[in-house]
Amino acid sequence: MEKDILNNSIDRSWIEKFDKPLTISGPCSAESEQQIMETAKKLDPSYVQVFRAGIWKPRTRPNNFEGIGERGLKWLNNVKKRTGLMVATEIANAEHVKLALSFDIDVLWIGARSTASPFTVQEIADSLEGKEDQIILVKNPIHPDIELWIGALERLLGKGIRKLGVIHRGFYTYKTSKYRNQPNWNLLFSFRNILPRIPVICDPSHICGNKEGILDIAKTAYHYFKYDGLMIESHCDPDHAWSDAQQQITPEKLLELLKQLTGSNHETHQNHLDSLRIFIDEIDENLIALLAKRMKISKKLGTFKKSEDITIFQPNRWDSIMKKYLKLGKNLGISEELLEGVFKLLHQESINIQNRI
Ligand code: PEP
Ligand code: MN
Repeated sequence: MEKDILNNSIDRSWIEKFDKPLTISGPCSAESEQQIMETAKKLDPSYVQVFRAGIWKPRTRPNNFEGIGERGLKWLNNVKKRTGLMVATEIANAEHVKLALSFDIDVLWIGARSTASPFTVQEIADSLEGKEDQIILVKNPIHPDIELWIGALERLLGKGIRKLGVIHRGFYTYKTSKYRNQPNWNLLFSFRNILPRIPVICDPSHICGNKEGILDIAKTAYHYFKYDGLMIESHCDPDHAWSDAQQQITPEKLLELLKQLTGSNHETHQNHLDSLRIFIDEIDENLIALLAKRMKISKKLGTFKKSEDITIFQPNRWDSIMKKYLKLGKNLGISEELLEGVFKLLHQESINIQNRI
């Protein structure tokens, strides 16, 4: 689908009804009717508009709690009736969609693992045909692939589902990180350049994997990047939660956090400056991780050269890669001076490492 057509097909009316930020909160998983009712009643409706609870839980390994299943839908429906909050749950196949709709669940979200599977998303989209009023949120796929994420939206739009939104819940990373799922603000920035009309919600709970980092991520999303909403897990008794216990907070803590977030005054020019710095920091952190990786390989190369008695510095190779890099850099608008400077340093460090072996 042409990106402009795609962007213009998105219906933002559902989210524009709410004051910003739209806040979706509730436990990772529904455990009992009493647990979700107690949590929902403690959420302040002037700050939280949508109640979430997972009833089918995608777990990485089997033999963990995989959700309470179908009976949780009745509980969610009761929460909706009692509190007046809209209710939301995750769906991962056509049967889930059918059941959730039969219990009037207002918002359905497609989880990160499902977004990564075109077959699953297509099955969900097909099952929604004729349900044009349904709100569907699509979490980012677990790996940072914009096309796959946009593809999921296209599959839904293809079936007439226009009340859409996306959730940035961070991305799987193999490197050690303070995050459970690495946020990627640069990628989200590009995503919003392609689809500026799509409502964007941030899920600091699944990004952080802990309670402590939630406020910072929420601030970055809301103040610096002007996200439309937040999804934050809350539980009436977080320490005894059946899933994601370490990242859930009490409704009282959530309220404190939201007050702190919306009460803080951020100058627009300062926001802009800070958001650009966040981009730069993110790129620098990636550069450092790549440098460490490069140095590790240098070491292996040194060991190999030593065992095979190969000379460390090979001028021909150096000349040919430098030529290649300068050309590559020129095409990307990077000055020769910068590239040469950086690569001379890297190369020298590599030689030093190898000489030490
Ligand atoms: C969740 O929201 O509880 C969940 C399982 O999310 P994700 O798909 O982001 O892992
Ligand atoms: Mn969770």
